[in-house]
Amino acid sequence: MSKPEVTQIADSGLRYHSKSAGSPFSGLGQIRSCFFCGRHRPPAALMTRRLLGRTEQVCKPQCGAES
Ligand SMILES: [Zn+2]
Repeated sequence: MSKPEVTQIADSGLRYHSKSAGSPFSGLGQIRSCFFCGRHRPPAALMTRRLLGRTEQVCKPQCGAES
């Protein structure tokens, strides 16, 4: 399974590039928000799922599983 690396769709509906310098999370690595719960998590705590024909980032192993 290859990583999606071109664009991600934010919860707000804004499209941004994964390497955008204008990210509000710059300096924290590639923090993404979960598609389901919206919680911001580092890549290690996210997995991708195909939903409605798109690849979305969701919590790993599941939402609410806070370490
Ligand atoms: Zn979640």
